[in-house]
Amino acid sequence: MKFEMPVLSYAADVLEPTISKTTIDLHYGKHLQTYVNNLNNLLPGTEFENAGLEDICKKAEGAIFNNGAQVWNHTFYFNTFSPQGGGFPTGNLADAINKTFGSFENFQKEFNAAAVGLFGSGWAWLSEDKEGKLVITKESNAGNPLKSGLTPLLTFDVWEHAYYVDYQNRRADHLNALWNIIDWKIVQSRLEK
Ligand code: MN
Repeated sequence: MKFEMPVLSYAADVLEPTISKTTIDLHYGKHLQTYVNNLNNLLPGTEFENAGLEDICKKAEGAIFNNGAQVWNHTFYFNTFSPQGGGFPTGNLADAINKTFGSFENFQKEFNAAAVGLFGSGWAWLSEDKEGKLVITKESNAGNPLKSGLTPLLTFDVWEHAYYVDYQNRRADHLNALWNIIDWKIVQSRLEK
């Protein structure tokens, strides 16, 4: 078993009501576990047998990319939350957001619009480019910004499995609630120094 499940820093029920324990049990416990299992089953005998997860995200294609990127994306996603989350970014992250988007409120508006407007399954991302500029992108399916040379800072999962149990078809309501559990210190720690 090459890759293992990431360990969550919080219990499955503490993100309620934003994300229910049932959704954590399914999304983390079942969906992510399946991506980890699939990836481990796919790797033996391939050029990625000894590769790290970031390398798989940057270079692999097809099923190895899909499962490897989903492991990376979900690990990153679940590691962004805290029951003490919410509020506002501070320090150099707040400065960068204000510089690029004018205000935190406008950034939230643009990020929500990207996530709501993504057709089908995928991920909305906030990343930093090589010049230190922030950029919002949306990626279908397992897509992530590593392949484009960006440094990911924040992501919202807009696959229906992320919200359907708690919010049914109301993707926008789920996304609006997610801001309440974002740990901005973690997001800030991802900025290039
Ligand atoms: Mn997901």
